[in-house]
Amino acid sequence: MAALNSEVIRYIIKSRNATRGAISFVWLLLMLPRLVEEPGDLFVWVNALLLFAQDTVAQGYKKIPDDYFETNARRISRIFVFSCVVFCLHWGLLTGYIFHQSSLEVIHISAALGLAFSTISGFTVWLVSKRAGQSCMVLLFLPSIVVMMMAGGLAHFITGGFMIFCVAVLLHDGNARSKNMLETLSREIRSSEQASRYKKISQLDGLTDIHNRRHFDRYFPLLMEEARHDNAIISLLVVDLDHFKKINDDLGHDAGDACLKFAAQLLKREVRSSLDLLCRYGGEEFVIVLNGVDEQAAVIIAERICQSFRETPAEYNGKKVHWSTCVGISTISPSIHDHSELFKKADKALYHAKRTGRDRAVHINSLPADKA
Ligand code: GH3
Ligand code: MG
Ligand code: MG
Repeated sequence: MAALNSEVIRYIIKSRNATRGAISFVWLLLMLPRLVEEPGDLFVWVNALLLFAQDTVAQGYKKIPDDYFETNARRISRIFVFSCVVFCLHWGLLTGYIFHQSSLEVIHISAALGLAFSTISGFTVWLVSKRAGQSCMVLLFLPSIVVMMMAGGLAHFITGGFMIFCVAVLLHDGNARSKNMLETLSREIRSSEQASRYKKISQLDGLTDIHNRRHFDRYFPLLMEEARHDNAIISLLVVDLDHFKKINDDLGHDAGDACLKFAAQLLKREVRSSLDLLCRYGGEEFVIVLNGVDEQAAVIIAERICQSFRETPAEYNGKKVHWSTCVGISTISPSIHDHSELFKKADKALYHAKRTGRDRAVHINSLPADKA
């Protein structure tokens, strides 16, 4: 249950849009004359501060990584329920206070709207805990009902009675409504999960299960831009298997496919999953963006990749397939202005590695000026 709750809470928080912020802002504008008129009115100041704090916290919540919700489901449920109860208690007391102050008549309608709007919070928390949802509804309305009933006069009495009727309906409908909301929410969560799964799939190569060219084309320019902005180092490796056509010709296309899968696994072992970007660029060609890796370190990594292919034959139908690879390397420098230039340099270095015997790594800076 806690896991489901945290899913729901995560969805509610992440899908929170600007409407709430805008409503809070309008509300503050309405309160402003009161703050100027009665600067000593602590209650209204607390309300203004609480609104501000609530929106700031909500913005912060949005930045919580998804996996934190999974691992801290119980704690998040408790904090969420607690903050909703505090919110409803506050709005309940505030609206009761406003109805009590005859000098605040101009904002009675906004207070009533605020009260109605706050019931959304009551229902939101109902999705997580029935008892908390019921308490929230009571906390929201009780102060105003008490004020209305104590004020005297038929109009106040009728308003108070109407509020009691509203709470009764809300408490009666709560379960059915929260069930409906939960179903709609589950559907939305499922479809948004599906969308993110599709998005992920569209960025993966179907054969090797590593990132594909589309992903590389999208992220490489961004990584490059970021590195240039932060004055950081980036190296690019273009890895191309040697004589791969021969493997296909000798052993068949299926063997070739199995070798490509194996190659992706070998390369995965050589990169840091959280820092580097490994993609299948196309055919038997892979690209690796090494973040924060300079020329010397990139050459060492590229040579290690060549050695790894040399010493680890692929396997197909119990048979070992001996192979080798070439790696072209380039590193960001003031003379390289954009991602396509960095790629062209690495590709040129790869071409040189092929021309000079294969099974080797070549950095563009190691070539004579006329070849680079
Ligand atoms: P070089 O050492 O010069 O790189 O030679 P090569 O044979 O590796 O390069 P070439 O570009 O001549 O051939 C690449 C081969 O890779 C041709 C193509 O059949 C094969 N290939 C490309 N994509 C796939 C694939 O998805 N599966 C399989 N099995 N083979 C593929
Ligand atoms: Mg090749
Ligand atoms: Mg090739």
